[in-house]
Amino acid sequence: MSSFARKVKKIKELSPSIQVSEEKGCIVLRGEADSWDTIVKAGRLAVDRKKYYGVINDIRLKGFTQKVKLPAEQDSLYDGAKPDVLIIGGGLTGCAAARELSRYNLDIMLVEKGADVAAGQSSRNGGAVHVGINYSPSSQKNYYNHRGNAMYTKLSKELDFPFERTGHLMLIGAAWEKILIQILLLNARRLNIRGARYLTRQELLKVEPYAPSWAYGALYMPTGGFTSPYKVNVALAENAVTNGVKICLNTAVTGMETKGGKIQAVKTNRGTIYPKIVINASGVYADVIADMAGDRTFTIHPRKGTDIILDKKVGKYIRTTEVKSPITVLGNGKKLHSSERVKMIKFALSHENTSKGIAVIHTVDKNMILGPDVQEIPDREDTTTDRESTNRILTEQMKVAEKVSPADVIAYFAGVRSPTYEEDFQVRKGIFCKNILEAAGIQSPGATAAPAIGRQLAIWTVKYLRETQKVEKNPNFNPIRKGTPHLSEMSEEERNELIKKNPDYGEIVCRCEEVSKGEILDVLNSPLPVYTLDAVKRRCRPGMGRCQGGFCSPLVVQILAEARGCSVDEIKKSGKNSDILLGSTKEALK
Ligand SMILES: Cc1cc2nc3c(=O)[nH]c(=O)nc-3n(C[C@H](O)[C@H](O)[C@H](O)COP(=O)(O)OP(=O)(O)OC[C@H]3O[C@@H](n4cnc5c(N)ncnc54)[C@H](O)[C@@H]3O)c2cc1C
Repeated sequence: MSSFARKVKKIKELSPSIQVSEEKGCIVLRGEADSWDTIVKAGRLAVDRKKYYGVINDIRLKGFTQKVKLPAEQDSLYDGAKPDVLIIGGGLTGCAAARELSRYNLDIMLVEKGADVAAGQSSRNGGAVHVGINYSPSSQKNYYNHRGNAMYTKLSKELDFPFERTGHLMLIGAAWEKILIQILLLNARRLNIRGARYLTRQELLKVEPYAPSWAYGALYMPTGGFTSPYKVNVALAENAVTNGVKICLNTAVTGMETKGGKIQAVKTNRGTIYPKIVINASGVYADVIADMAGDRTFTIHPRKGTDIILDKKVGKYIRTTEVKSPITVLGNGKKLHSSERVKMIKFALSHENTSKGIAVIHTVDKNMILGPDVQEIPDREDTTTDRESTNRILTEQMKVAEKVSPADVIAYFAGVRSPTYEEDFQVRKGIFCKNILEAAGIQSPGATAAPAIGRQLAIWTVKYLRETQKVEKNPNFNPIRKGTPHLSEMSEEERNELIKKNPDYGEIVCRCEEVSKGEILDVLNSPLPVYTLDAVKRRCRPGMGRCQGGFCSPLVVQILAEARGCSVDEIKKSGKNSDILLGSTKEALK
């Protein structure tokens, strides 16, 4: 029986109504199913990385239609634009590509359907800069994670965003689990990951004084780090804008015209754009965009992850990231036979399910994050949180962060990852379309890898354009971007100095995070215009503290309205249809 016939048999056993075919180098699944679980399972069964480009899973879920959140704007603001490059998506990948491309004298446009950059996964992740110790050497994840991780030190200095390299830890609960660490250390050597080593319990306590009481030892990976993903995203975008990139917010790609294997025109809610080359960095919609260009060889299956943010007062209990080793999780303290141990080690080393598991994470803002978990869902934009997930994460992670209690929780958030069924990045030139570059399947460790992916996309773009035109270096490119000052990070003298120069820095708006009016005004004057409450919150943190904006939000709205010269009810939370105020209370009572 051929490998294709075997696949068909297995998929039919799962659900006889699913149709399986081979088309243009891909395995294609069609039909209808009652459960999302069946659809994901069928997609996984169809994977064959060696023989096919990828899996196109078009099985419909009965009763479900994807509702795409589109901007309310409908105009012709960008109609007829003819940029050299059009980047779709203002997340970390798109903005990293934009900044790299701004080193050249090119007309670059980036369209983002959200009201701000970092509207997708890039604002909804834990901010760990991963080590990548368990990736297969031939995977794209390994290639880009390794390079991206190495770029962070210099990038954080050039772009003035917070970055700490305090290392990551994988904890084990028993002596026999050291076998897994030894295998991972061999992999580290193969992957050229420096400094990784085994720590005994005593050594572990020097690195992480509040390590859990059950931890027998740990794998320590000093190249692991932490950043604020949306601050990185904003910094990349601002530097790109300063160097000439046009960022078009509230602008969604809705269709394409192609001819002779080339994109001729890109339709948006703000007019039709005629780029020479397109970069697809659209996250959870990467397969939809690739399909518009006739270049789809993969399917994104949304994978939600929920995170819990804890009060700064418990931030001191974590300096690194602590994860339980996969076998500690599976074994759950049970006594195991050697055959079961071997099975677990094999599972722990498999590269199949590589969304990073639940961790206890140190943040650059001195909070602690617990999460994220892993949930396959049909809806690409479902960022709701639920009690079941948060309770599960809290119960599980309080076994690692033993000093934490439920009373320390200040907020929950969820993000939707964008894996393909092959579970690897798809960073490549178009296969069936000559003028598209794909950056798809950028799930974790995508925040780590983004700078390196952006650089690769820029190299390919320039090479493509040079076939038909001269592309010179941008003589005015400035790699340096200065962030706005943060009073909470300053000494008493520095604050006083600043307040003397500008009394607005003395007017505290957010008490929890100590954010002043001056800092908010700085953000409003930054190179990428800021119009929404969420955009201000991401940049300088009013509303991120214990009270979650209960006290400061009305004040921030007022400052925004004054600065923009509009009424307070025109200020929105995250986009045109996200009202904060509907009218005055007196009017409502009339
Ligand atoms: C819960 C969670 C935790 C994570 N933790 C980590 C971590 O600790 N470390 C790490 O390295 N990685 C982590 N990741 C992964 C990382 O966040 C992503 O890989 C990375 O942010 C992907 O960036 P991106 O730019 O490719 O995609 P996105 O950030 O999703 O950006 C895509 C953008 O495209 C826009 N878009 C979509 N369709 C259109 C359209 N039609 N027109 C215009 N714009 C469009 C979207 O609005 C979005 O802003 C995590 C992810 C999640 C969800």
